[in-house]
Amino acid sequence: PLPTIAIIGRPNVGKSTLFNRLVGKKLALVDDQPGVTRDRREGEASLLGCDFRVIDTAGFEDEDAASLPGRMRQQTEAALREADVALFLVDARQGLTPLDEEVGRWLRAADVPVILAANKAEGRLAESSIYEAMALGFDDPIALSAEHGEGIADLFDALRPYI
Ligand code: GDP
Ligand code: MG
Repeated sequence: PLPTIAIIGRPNVGKSTLFNRLVGKKLALVDDQPGVTRDRREGEASLLGCDFRVIDTAGFEDEDAASLPGRMRQQTEAALREADVALFLVDARQGLTPLDEEVGRWLRAADVPVILAANKAEGRLAESSIYEAMALGFDDPIALSAEHGEGIADLFDALRPYI
């Protein structure tokens, strides 16, 4: 079986956009509304000669604030059970939210290596949010722009030991 990367994070950080960029086909629905992807998606990617499987965890658009963390946790933990490495995405423009911190706690509790990436880091400087993400307690975040394809080489370097 191919090594598996699970893209983890709260709604609207750009998980499906990154999935589409890695997998190279529009397999995941991306929309301007937060968390619009309904189902978990899987695809195969090939980067610099490495083949791997990518899981995009679902959006949670029908959830109210009270049930969102529970649903997210179920989805996250199901993906982590199949993952060789977790790619934890946060939003470099919006900054950290309590939900990011909660996802970080689930990831720390799981027995899976975690790579942290601050997405939407293109263009205007998102450096303060990137530094802020260091507070999550993982290795230094990779600055990424899934939409513009920036930081993919750094991402690959970080993933390389696991794929
Ligand atoms: P998901 O809910 O985590 O799957 O997030 P999506 O991939 O659906 O993206 C949510 C929104 O963020 C969409 O409007 C995307 O176009 C936007 N987005 C994703 N990646 C980037 C990025 O690198 N930069 C910017 N500026 N926006 C992005
Ligand atoms: Mg999505």
